[in-house]
Amino acid sequence: MRKGLNKKGFSLVELMIVVVIMGILVAVAIPLYGAITDNARANTCRNNQRDVRAVFARYILVNQANSAYTLFTNGASSFDGSSQNAEDVLDPEFLSYFSENTLPTCPEEDHYYKITAVSPTEIKVECMASGSVDDEHSAE
Ligand SMILES: [Zn+2]
Repeated sequence: MRKGLNKKGFSLVELMIVVVIMGILVAVAIPLYGAITDNARANTCRNNQRDVRAVFARYILVNQANSAYTLFTNGASSFDGSSQNAEDVLDPEFLSYFSENTLPTCPEEDHYYKITAVSPTEIKVECMASGSVDDEHSAE
């Protein structure tokens, strides 16, 4: 072995290649991670909306006096989740079926769903995360 020539360790070129490869991996992973979390939020949102409809089904099944029109305490036939408090507008009996007596919220912007009475036995639940009905968050 020649004196002064260190064969151990990495050359600058080898280190630069490793750094470039790591950079590529990070560049791929970050958008992928973002897509996965977006997808998880949209799934949670759709499940929340199904929960609201399931709770409504229970609400009208348990008490025959209940309907989509007794859901709103202010005489209205809809609840605007982005500008109103659930406690101010929705029947406390309906809210009592949710855990902690609160309506679930969209994980995207943390606001309530828009609930509209369609018929005495049917409600429409919509996510308004993007200011209007969010198609990506819409459950069927
Ligand atoms: Zn949503």
